[in-house]
Amino acid sequence: MSTGKINFNAGPAALPPEVLQEAAAAVREYKNTGLSILELPHRGAEFLAIIAETKLLVKELCNLNDDYEVVWVHGGGRMVFAMLAMNYLTHNDTAGYIDSGHWAAEAIDYGRHYGQVSVLGSSRTTNYNQLPKLDLSADNNLKYLHITTNNTIYGTQYHHVPAFKSPLVADMSSDIFSCQRDYTQYDMFYAAAQKNLGTPGVALAVIKKDFLEKSFDNLPPILSLKAYVKENSVLNTANVSGIYTALLMLRWIKGKGIAAIEKDNQLKATLLYDALDNSKIFIPHVVVKEHRSDMNVCFTALDKNIEQALLTLCAENDIIGISGHRSVGGFRVSLYNAITVESVKKLVAIMTELEAGV
Ligand code: PMP
Repeated sequence: MSTGKINFNAGPAALPPEVLQEAAAAVREYKNTGLSILELPHRGAEFLAIIAETKLLVKELCNLNDDYEVVWVHGGGRMVFAMLAMNYLTHNDTAGYIDSGHWAAEAIDYGRHYGQVSVLGSSRTTNYNQLPKLDLSADNNLKYLHITTNNTIYGTQYHHVPAFKSPLVADMSSDIFSCQRDYTQYDMFYAAAQKNLGTPGVALAVIKKDFLEKSFDNLPPILSLKAYVKENSVLNTANVSGIYTALLMLRWIKGKGIAAIEKDNQLKATLLYDALDNSKIFIPHVVVKEHRSDMNVCFTALDKNIEQALLTLCAENDIIGISGHRSVGGFRVSLYNAITVESVKKLVAIMTELEAGV
């Protein structure tokens, strides 16, 4: 199954054809139950088996032992921004944040609803075209330190996350399972599902047990990390089809292997960045090469005519989703795990053809 388009959207993003095919089959009927996945009871044995398998696979893919809990949270990335702050901060507590892009800044705003925020570094003044320089003098007595491993809108990524003293919490929404990583570095990490993990409205959160212990008890259950763990992510009517799609993605990721996925992702990004670095008509947004994202490649064109010409050529070739976010302009090409090397080669060929004609 394929939509016939090359979909470079930032999220909801392209899913592998095999996953779409299985998801479509499950919409018709899930595993001889006589029910569609869209009808499957959230407290039945089938769905509990789905949740159990996701937990095993997440731990396996991250190389984590039983010191960690895996939950599926409603509402996506922003819900976790809010839950993190409300589960750990009172007005007298301070959390550290790194302001590396739009989503990092939004996480900071959510944090400020509940506690004090210390910003350890920001690259806002250069329109986030690099990762921020950090001042770690405040990395003491912080309830947690929040980092965004990949900045979806500006196209920067932490390929190496420094060691911190405070409990480390990472938003990995746009690069989870895209590269090999030491997940034991994190006390908590989370990802909205709609990029590398399936469909919107649901987020994966993985929490170290001793960090979970420090979260508050007196919250409404649907916003409490402890309650999600205690109730096995089924506090109310869970997002059955969303979590099932995430399971299909996890199986697909395991089948390919993260090492192979990482290799492909690096190749895809290199193809595109090389084209940009050799171009006279396109300008990459991120100039510091070590800060460039393998997931979201952002660039502008020399003028509006070239910009329009690329959009037209892409439309003629069934390539969609390359417009940049309004805060950067130009283009953003998202190279999540489901994007093939061939798709990137096709885009690069079009850009090269355009360049030759200018
Ligand atoms: N964090 C990052 C890094 C993101 O890219 C996004 C969405 N693009 C979010 C958080 C917010 O996710 P959601 O829309 O699910 O709230």
